[in-house]
Amino acid sequence: ASQAKKEAASTGAVQIGIEYKKDVDFPKWYQQVVTRSEMLEYYDVSGCYILRPWAYRIWQEIQHWFDNEIQELGVENSYFPMFVPAKNLEKEKDHVEGFAAEVAWVTRAGSSELEEPLAVRPTSETVMYPYYAKWVRSHRDLPLRLNQWCNVVRWEFKNPQPFLRTREFLWQEGHTAFATKEEADSEVYQILDLYRQVYEDLLAVPVIKGIKSEKEKFAGGLYTTTIEGYIPTTGRGIQAATSHCLGQNFAKMFGISFEDPQGPLPSGEARPPLHAWQNSWGLTTRSLGVMIMVHGDDKGLVLPPRVASVQVVVIPCGINTKTSDEDKAAVDERINEIMKGFKKAGIRAKFDDRTTYSVGYKFNHWELRGVPVRLEVGPKDVKNNQALAARRDNGEKITVKQETLVQEIRDLLDTVQSDMFKRAQVTRDANIAHVEDWKDFVPALDDKKFCLIPWCEDSACEEEIKEKSARTGIATTEVQDEKAPSMGAKSLCIPLEQPQDKPIVAGETKCVSCGKNAKRWALFGRSY
Ligand code: AMP
Ligand code: ZN
Repeated sequence: ASQAKKEAASTGAVQIGIEYKKDVDFPKWYQQVVTRSEMLEYYDVSGCYILRPWAYRIWQEIQHWFDNEIQELGVENSYFPMFVPAKNLEKEKDHVEGFAAEVAWVTRAGSSELEEPLAVRPTSETVMYPYYAKWVRSHRDLPLRLNQWCNVVRWEFKNPQPFLRTREFLWQEGHTAFATKEEADSEVYQILDLYRQVYEDLLAVPVIKGIKSEKEKFAGGLYTTTIEGYIPTTGRGIQAATSHCLGQNFAKMFGISFEDPQGPLPSGEARPPLHAWQNSWGLTTRSLGVMIMVHGDDKGLVLPPRVASVQVVVIPCGINTKTSDEDKAAVDERINEIMKGFKKAGIRAKFDDRTTYSVGYKFNHWELRGVPVRLEVGPKDVKNNQALAARRDNGEKITVKQETLVQEIRDLLDTVQSDMFKRAQVTRDANIAHVEDWKDFVPALDDKKFCLIPWCEDSACEEEIKEKSARTGIATTEVQDEKAPSMGAKSLCIPLEQPQDKPIVAGETKCVSCGKNAKRWALFGRSY
């Protein structure tokens, strides 16, 4: 460390490295990891952050993949304005109630007050649907399936958290309208599975698919499906993305209706118009924070290869004052050759050829930034036609032959990706307690676990569980956050996949909290 400091001083670079241990001071660890890895910078407006290229690039990777998938489904991109007239925002009562406290308003332009204040979109149902009403006339105008990639503003007064809870965030919001409930239902779950794939396949973060309780569902919607993540260090759940079926509620409020394709009644009288069935679904930059929290370690970020801006960093090693110019040139030449191979194979690689930094400094630099694989090439390696690969996720070192280097590194990246996912999954699974007796509930939570319980699905019961599981002393190792406090547990979801070995028997299995009849197993936990 003192070596790194000396070098930093001599090169004028700021000190690198993480000073806090993930398990000891998680909030400070997180703050240092996101800033020192150059993912994010704090901004002058509280709750707003600058996404630097190292983070934005990952977001683009997610965008690219997800955007392709939804186009395949027939969803089209478009763009709607960010301002909402008050009268539109207030059209759906439950919806506006759900968002009112967080809506930011523009009331002035220059020195003059606006005649009608404008809300900044917290989500775009009320921006888009007046126009859906205009565009949908007949069943032939359906389905209408639009998406937009944009920012939204939710002026949360609770503790902001980089990526996880920010006042402005980036997301995609899909808004679709169908003639039938069946089509809407089917899309809700298709999108939910795409969200699962973003987390599991791209970010290597396991998630649980489920349905939100009535209390936790989207304001104004019919039902909300969700994927829920788990942060092992704090034992908290996090809502990773949501896909809502809005039912016909918004369609009725905004007048999104179409003529009944059956035509007039036998009497000749016109049938009443039908209302569209609608969905909305969103995935945000929160996903980056979840990935960082799940995979990061005491050295900094650990990036899954599929989304890492740089998948392999190549560093010349074993060169000192005694190394001949010839040997140095041979190393450079070999690395350039390797880089060509990577480029051809579509592997994102970086040659760190900076001569003003020591090898040790470079190792730290790229470890902090989470680059999945480091490749070391020195004069001896050139002679032996090999190189040394080091995995960021577990530190393992592997000698690779020059002949098969590109293929071996490609396979190694795949292995790292799947190992990262499996490790996170094993940890997550080990932290789901099947609780069938209330006395085990709070101890399991305090042990940083999720509790899966037979539940009555009653909102009053949910409220009571939250109160009963509130903790008096708040542990200091947690990221402080009042919205989803370390106090009580809330329902995270009713998992789509119910425990097979212990089915709920109607009229027999009782709710773990209130003793009424249980309907399904539900996942509870402290959460963000
Ligand atoms: P919603 O439109 O409320 O369903 O939000 C869609 C998704 O956005 C949620 O499932 C969260 O994962 C995420 N989200 C909600 N609030 C925030 C926030 N303040 N910052 C970042 N992501 C958020
Ligand atoms: Zn109950």
